[in-house]
Amino acid sequence: MVHKVFWDDPYLTTLQTEVGRVIGDQVTLRDTIFFAQSGGQESDKGTIGVFPVLNARWEGKDIRYTLPPDHDLRVGNVVTIMIDWPRRYKLMRLHFAAEIVLELVYSTLKKPKKIGAHIAEDKARIDFDFKENIDKHLDKLTLMANIVVANNYVIESGFSDRAAERRYWKIPGFAQVPCGGTHLKRTGEIGEISLNRKNVGRGKERIEVRVA
Ligand SMILES: [Zn+2]
Repeated sequence: MVHKVFWDDPYLTTLQTEVGRVIGDQVTLRDTIFFAQSGGQESDKGTIGVFPVLNARWEGKDIRYTLPPDHDLRVGNVVTIMIDWPRRYKLMRLHFAAEIVLELVYSTLKKPKKIGAHIAEDKARIDFDFKENIDKHLDKLTLMANIVVANNYVIESGFSDRAAERRYWKIPGFAQVPCGGTHLKRTGEIGEISLNRKNVGRGKERIEVRVA
């Protein structure tokens, strides 16, 4: 099972490690900083050795990386992983913006049910099962979210269950939430949050989140 260095240090952009297994065009690694899609946060982009990673996916607690079929990596080879840091950092900032907006929705509206979330490089979205137009709440939510940013709170991350690899983030006095994503150190890193509503069909309301 791969050691997930992206949890120990989400700010690491290169890492030297060894190839674990080779299964045709897919490899596993001993250690990794290359995040694979989880909790709505998209996978990183980057390279393993000289090869671009075409796909990253969880296989239980391990991660399989798909490389071009002509890669020549073998078990035990020492390789350097490099990730696209501007992309990852944008994903981390949007991810945490979405986390804060979600907590504020839960604490200020009548518990709308979250039915989906996705964090891409340009924007994040959160979908709710909500029977009214969420638009009239967005100004207040935007204001509150940007106060959380301005207060530059410390974000703690850790394991709630190390064996099961269950992770959480916590801002003391604000929230503690289970999540296996890569999280910022402080809320001030998010930047100014803006929110838009999209109606995606019957009883479903979508909030789009952007950061400046
Ligand atoms: Zn998260």
